[in-house]
Amino acid sequence: MDLKGKTALVTGGARGIGKAIVLELAKLGANVATCYARSAEAAEAVIEEAKGFGVNGIAVKADVSVAEDVTNMIDVVSKELGGIDILVNNAGITKDNIIVGLTEADFDMVVDTNLKGAFLACKAVARPMIKKKGGRIINISSIVGVNGNAGQSNYAASKAGLIGLTKSLAKELGKKGITVNAVAPGFISTDMTAAMTEEATAKMNAMIPAGRPGQPEEVAKLVAFLASDDAAYITGQVIGIDGGM
Ligand code: NAD
Repeated sequence: MDLKGKTALVTGGARGIGKAIVLELAKLGANVATCYARSAEAAEAVIEEAKGFGVNGIAVKADVSVAEDVTNMIDVVSKELGGIDILVNNAGITKDNIIVGLTEADFDMVVDTNLKGAFLACKAVARPMIKKKGGRIINISSIVGVNGNAGQSNYAASKAGLIGLTKSLAKELGKKGITVNAVAPGFISTDMTAAMTEEATAKMNAMIPAGRPGQPEEVAKLVAFLASDDAAYITGQVIGIDGGM
């Protein structure tokens, strides 16, 4: 598998799954870009590490829930790295609560980041990808978007929405040589899951047939395959990576 000559934009690549994806794509030869909402340091460090694989890279300040930020991010990356061949919508947040305690603000923040952010980025890359007659869009959904999860109705709604977005765009863009797929990770060891209570973590681990949480690098390898030419006939799919959950 080889991504030489391609450029990939991975949102929220400063840490966790996004960081692993940036590094995996760079290892395979892609130029890589990522964005950060607030602090530049971690994102720039990831890009520096990626450049160690002999590729170009750039970190751009952009909150994916803000339309102007996303448009600017796509412009800057396209200009600096010569277009975008691979878009990975990875940036995501949780604001967990059961429905009676869930505020409208926390519902909106999660949906705006996880779902609207992906919509904005897909919209911004669609025209140039159509012109180029090719591209890869990979949306990082979640097993929670497929199955639901108590205490995560906002997150589940955003991740299920990503699946609808994925399947619709696959139908719109298929004839243009653009594939659009969703990856639905189960329980992956990152800062996001480290924030869960011990009880919730133990409950989650007990539900994994593989008997362990997944690693960000394992998700990154699946994303890299979907980004490659070898995956040209896979589109509109939701691919679980969850140890059998
Ligand atoms: P993480 O919290 O470690 O990383 C998320 C990244 O997104 C961070 O770098 C953060 O700064 C960035 N981000 C958040 N809001 C942003 C915004 N508005 N604009 C720009 N960047 C923003 O989380 P992770 O575990 O690495 O998760 C990555 C993705 O995978 C998320 O979409 C998450 O929902 C999804 N996911 C994670 C798991 C898991 O078990 N960790 C499971 C299923 C799906």
